[in-house]
Amino acid sequence: MTDERCDRTRRRSTPTTEPPGRPPAAAALTTPTGILGAAGSASQTARLACVTTIRPGVDRAARHAVAARTEALFRASGALREGHFALKSGRHGDAYVEKFAVLSDPAATSELCAFWAADYGGRTGGARVDLVAGPTTGGVILAFETGRLLGTRAIFAEEVRPDDGAIRREFRRGFRIEPGERVLLVDDILTTGGSLLAMIPAVEAMGGEIVGCHVLVDRSGEPRSTIDSPTTGRRYPLHSLWRLALPTYEPGPDSCPRCAAGDPVQAPGSTGTAARPASAIS
Ligand SMILES: [Zn+2]
Repeated sequence: MTDERCDRTRRRSTPTTEPPGRPPAAAALTTPTGILGAAGSASQTARLACVTTIRPGVDRAARHAVAARTEALFRASGALREGHFALKSGRHGDAYVEKFAVLSDPAATSELCAFWAADYGGRTGGARVDLVAGPTTGGVILAFETGRLLGTRAIFAEEVRPDDGAIRREFRRGFRIEPGERVLLVDDILTTGGSLLAMIPAVEAMGGEIVGCHVLVDRSGEPRSTIDSPTTGRRYPLHSLWRLALPTYEPGPDSCPRCAAGDPVQAPGSTGTAARPASAIS
């Protein structure tokens, strides 16, 4: 697992949206010899040296604690389901995250959104956010609660299927993003990244500045720390509270154990009756 919190620290120092050539503000902290030599006093030297040695460990511990708490909330809600599923990606899986088991618990949802809000809003030195946006359907709830915690507006983007078959998302219902407004994108489960990839162009088209993309769970199997706009190519930070590795299989008895066993396949969330909570899934 990569060091996501440390990655975040570095990204804040050198945001991808900043003009090239700007000196990274905290780069000196990662090269203490240079800055300490210029700092002069012994007290400054001691303070800076302390930051460089302790901060990464603190960040890592905090990240692990957040991931553990997120997992605990998902497990307590019964969000991990076991069965034979045809996933959005087209592959089959024998476990599935039913996100609405968590999202139907306001206290759990609020606690998870608070992990995101803690990094923004200025009260803790975090980046300013003007509004929070999420994709339907889970993103509506997450954007609302995160916006409530941050004291900002919260809007959502809906899926549009034009005749050309290219799925995209639009902000409807009079939702506005003013040019230059700083937008926090939130979503529930990252599987293919399709929902975020469809939202980013909608925000960019209205002139919004995306300050970060956050998901509750990254179950893509390919953890990454950035996501690229499919239209502008701009690269944005991507964070997850919890990374979950669940095996997936090509459909068919030769590759999928449940297909081989003849288990009926179901679309996740279609009925919920054939799946059972998977308390033992790790
Ligand atoms: Zn199968």
